[in-house]
Amino acid sequence: MFQTSYIELSESAVKNNIDFIHNFIGEGVTFSSVVKGNAYGHGIANYCPIAYKYGVRHFSVFSAQEAFNVSATLPNHEQAVMIMGQIENEELEWAIEHNIEFYVFEIDRLEHAIAVAKKMNKKALIHVELETGMNRTGFPQKGLPEVLKSIENNLQYLEVKGICTHLAGAESIANYKRIKDQLNRFKRYQLKLKDTPWNTAKKHISSSSATLRYTNSQLDMVRIGILQFGFFPTEEIFVHYCAKKKTSIDPMQRILSWKARVMDTKTVKAGEFIGYGTSYLTNQTSKIALIPIGYSFGYSRSLSNQGKVLINGGRFDVVGTVNMSMLAVDITSDPSIKKGDEVVLIGSQGEQELSVSSFSDFSQLINYELLTRLPQDIPRIITK
Ligand SMILES: *Cc1c(COP(=O)(O)O)cnc(C)c1O
Repeated sequence: MFQTSYIELSESAVKNNIDFIHNFIGEGVTFSSVVKGNAYGHGIANYCPIAYKYGVRHFSVFSAQEAFNVSATLPNHEQAVMIMGQIENEELEWAIEHNIEFYVFEIDRLEHAIAVAKKMNKKALIHVELETGMNRTGFPQKGLPEVLKSIENNLQYLEVKGICTHLAGAESIANYKRIKDQLNRFKRYQLKLKDTPWNTAKKHISSSSATLRYTNSQLDMVRIGILQFGFFPTEEIFVHYCAKKKTSIDPMQRILSWKARVMDTKTVKAGEFIGYGTSYLTNQTSKIALIPIGYSFGYSRSLSNQGKVLINGGRFDVVGTVNMSMLAVDITSDPSIKKGDEVVLIGSQGEQELSVSSFSDFSQLINYELLTRLPQDIPRIITK
């Protein structure tokens, strides 16, 4: 209720990004909006209804809890929700009851899904995940014939919605060989499954990177996370996109801004240390602004003497160490800054922009990590 900072989500940016993705993949491919990690920090409850409004009908999450959260924000709508990761056997009944789709990648889950579906007399909606080389989850080749047989024998309790795998790092050309091997292995599986009665299931293997870079790997559905929030997964993928499209314009728009207000200002003499310890020494009479944001809000301590913020249309340095709940900024160059002025930690103000990416350069955090660390209880406000 009472908050020291707030997050704004731009609805027009959401629309821009969703339109871009739909145009890029074309009509025949389903866009599944990956909203794990509280929609990459944007807030499931805030983001999903807007995505729905602009045409998204398929959402992917990691866990049953996240699937519940997505369903709760879109209770009366017609959308698919797919769990790509963890669901406990005790949660299967809930999932089947509510038409929640889930990955099956090991025999225990498959057997439980069949048993629960039988008991409920309702089909479980499953995606069969295959191991192709990431060596995380997925049925390995060994034992696969028995798994397929079990599925085939229980099609009155199972609807196979998808056949899928995950690529181990399509965002970097350094992984090229590994990714190509995975794509080939998946192709071989597809050939094997061609004659099964459930081969109409959607094939899906691509996240943002593969969707952009290996366009023929889009198959029937793509699972896109970071791109929908306005970020290319890596600089390399952006450069690749630009080269291919012969453009230098970033077609995506950042959705999220993070803002707070100046809580106090003060003047400090030359030759004084700011905050804890001795990491920042003033070399002139300095004006300092205190901002009620610290590492407990996800503003990394490694941004001590490194971070930048925007106030009054100008860009200012974080000085001294980032505290648990507070940080200090050197505002000597703009004496007009006062208590209550808006501070932008991520986003734009006037002509200036602090993107999450530039922020990440300072802190060595990638976009994914920085965004998902934004606390769930910071209020999210939808703007135009
Ligand atoms: C997170 C995730 C994605 C989305 O990845 P992005 O790089 O954010 O597009 C796709 N598939 C799976 C299995 C994931 O866990």
